[in-house]
Amino acid sequence: MGADTKDQEGQTALKTLETILFPHLNQCHICKRGLPPLQGVILCDGCMEELRRCQRNGEMCLDFGHEPLDVAVSAYQYADITGRLVRRLKYHGDSSVAQLLSIGMCAAYAKGKERIGDAELIVPVPSHYTAIVRRGYNQAYYLAQVMTEHLGIPMEANALIKSRAVASLVGQTREARRKAVDKAFAVQRRGLIEGKRVLLIDDVLTSGATASSCGKALLLAGATHVSVLTACHA
Ligand SMILES: [Zn+2]
Repeated sequence: MGADTKDQEGQTALKTLETILFPHLNQCHICKRGLPPLQGVILCDGCMEELRRCQRNGEMCLDFGHEPLDVAVSAYQYADITGRLVRRLKYHGDSSVAQLLSIGMCAAYAKGKERIGDAELIVPVPSHYTAIVRRGYNQAYYLAQVMTEHLGIPMEANALIKSRAVASLVGQTREARRKAVDKAFAVQRRGLIEGKRVLLIDDVLTSGATASSCGKALLLAGATHVSVLTACHA
């Protein structure tokens, strides 16, 4: 048995023991290791380091190929740990995850600030109501809510609606994704959008088809500029 395996077994046993002895203690949201009961601490040092390794820095986080958006800015590379965090947000409404991901999102926003310009309105990418009924959560809303607090930019959560449900885009080609979400979004009240520089917020940017479709609807409703800021980039 190698030293690494022994070490891993030891760690696992320790984790189990901690969970039995101190069930009330804070746990790492990823590996379940015990954590000090401090507010806002949701990852252990090891998982935090893994998250830091996913952070996209500098030009890496800026993506200009998503017409009609000015720029798409992403904080983290989509990987095992970021995927697990996003799923906690999406399926469990874990808002402490939104707080954690917002650290990288603020850094990415600062990097993209010159291209985004002075955003006047934050708008979360909406989920279709059937998805909200099924899951109970719109992950983009949680992220937008935290970002509006950090950046001091007002949010209009109901500016956009997803007017029709779209089947999962996973595994589809870029063109198929674009077609699937084309005209899926609509602006509810033009007055909220007109003349504004809008910053869209979403959890993951994959092909960019969803963000582009939202951007089109917002520009049609009179927004002057639209950019998107996401937690992850697939
Ligand atoms: Zn951990």
